[in-house]
Amino acid sequence: CGIVGIVGQQPVSERLIDALKRLEYRGYDSAGVATITEGALHRRRAEGKLVNLETRLKEEPLSGTIGIAHTRWATHGAPTERNAHPHFTDGVAVVHNGIIENFAELKDELAAAGAEFQTDTDTEVVAHLLARHRREGMRAREAMHATLKRVRGAYALAILFEDDPSTIMAARNGPPLAIGHGDGEMFLGSDAIALAPFTNEVTYLIDGDWAVIGKTGAHIFDFDGRPVERPRQTSMAAA
Ligand code: GLU
Repeated sequence: CGIVGIVGQQPVSERLIDALKRLEYRGYDSAGVATITEGALHRRRAEGKLVNLETRLKEEPLSGTIGIAHTRWATHGAPTERNAHPHFTDGVAVVHNGIIENFAELKDELAAAGAEFQTDTDTEVVAHLLARHRREGMRAREAMHATLKRVRGAYALAILFEDDPSTIMAARNGPPLAIGHGDGEMFLGSDAIALAPFTNEVTYLIDGDWAVIGKTGAHIFDFDGRPVERPRQTSMAAA
């Protein structure tokens, strides 16, 4: 339902939660956050309101200067902590807004090849496809492109690869997704409102776009993998 990402220089977990709060008006049933720290993915998730996730983070803080976060409005799978995003599979973290329409056939295919599913969501097939392509030897970008060719449906996605702690990958087909331009930091949000405390300089992805976002900028590609330019705009959202 709501997505936020930060690739930065300062700790991200508190800022990610503050940005998610700005998306609370959209409604949600659970929430989660993932960062990469000391070379590994870590996450905290909680059912219910963001205050529950904040309590989890107080008990067990999450360091890291790169991270993604999500508020979930369950479409497939009960609104439990187990089904909350980010989903983790073999060094890949995924948050998703929307519905993967061909998830059942992909799940059958992946399970037949040995994948073990940890959730009941449609989203988890994305994490397994990415992980499988990495195991096959693809670089993160190639895995991203190959995965997007397999999934059908509506999605805004934010993805972390454990072996690349300086990059967030994003993709859009349907639900909105904006890249925010900061000063030595870059942001991602399902809504410019979420990013307003950080920056008003945004680039909206259009349907079929995917992006590789680093601390100092983003590379955007179309569905066929060609580099594309999208306009940078000044958002009117108030901080
Ligand atoms: N379809 C996904 C799920 O049920 C994402 C729902 C959302 O947009 O939050 O987990």
